[in-house]
Amino acid sequence: MGDKTSQARSVLVTGASRGIGAAVALACARAGWDVAVNYARDEAAAERVAREVRAMGRRAIHMQADVADESAVLAMFARVDAELSPLRGLVNNAGIVDAMARVDQTSLARLQRMFAINVFGSFLCAREAVLRMSTKHGVNAKGPPGSGRGGAIVNLSSVAAKLGGPGWYVDYAASKGAIDTFTVGLAREVAAEGIRVNAVRPGIIDTDIHASGGQPERAHQSAALIPMQRPGTADEVAEGVLWLLSDAARYTTGAILDVSGGR
Ligand code: NAP
Repeated sequence: MGDKTSQARSVLVTGASRGIGAAVALACARAGWDVAVNYARDEAAAERVAREVRAMGRRAIHMQADVADESAVLAMFARVDAELSPLRGLVNNAGIVDAMARVDQTSLARLQRMFAINVFGSFLCAREAVLRMSTKHGVNAKGPPGSGRGGAIVNLSSVAAKLGGPGWYVDYAASKGAIDTFTVGLAREVAAEGIRVNAVRPGIIDTDIHASGGQPERAHQSAALIPMQRPGTADEVAEGVLWLLSDAARYTTGAILDVSGGR
């Protein structure tokens, strides 16, 4: 990927203004990808990430879109088509938690928001990516159907999908369980069309997500629950994502990689 013109390819990272998504965006740029930096609210942070990508000599755009909003997702992919190199990677990273709650305290509105962002958003973005990457389609290859050149999709799951999040956020855990199943199903569906689909399942990672669930100290307070006795970093998760995106993982699809310190 050294050539910046003919070989250039882009990756869209959702929720790339902060945390794991920002670390993934920067790791991708370092590895030679052009990067589309999606965010929901924090434009200044997204702009900073895009600027850092450009400082590494790659192209970058930052784009506001709620991944649960279909028209916003369509507009975002149209901008990538128009302004960046061909889309060959998608990282479905945007995700939310909510305040600690048992199932018997969970409202329908909370469930709808959780699944709309964590699950439906990943489906919508993957659908648009497959339409562009699949050797059966090739919407953005600016050629006839069949001109897609393949690609890789990486979904962000969570070890909560295995553990269930009892007493804390079973809804979040279930949304990530859906992501695991989605990963395996989509991987098999498009395996013969040049697209690999994998997931990374982080454990407890030191990012702002815990504060947004009302537990800012959670990552460090949970050290004793983690076999390695410490939370992970966003950069450590990004390493796994980058490998799954890369040609080094060319025979890996439908895999779910735990990056969790043994949790
Ligand atoms: P974070 O620090 O809270 O960052 C979340 C990112 O997602 C931000 O860039 C935010 O944008 C964006 N976002 C939120 N809602 C969005 C929406 N509706 N549409 C588009 N973007 C949206 O989260 P993180 O800890 O890096 O987590 C990233 C992913 O890893 C999530 O899927 C999460 O479930 C998963 N994960 C995290 C952990 C952990 O311990 N941190 C563990 C397991 C799995 P704004 O900045 O604009 O708000």
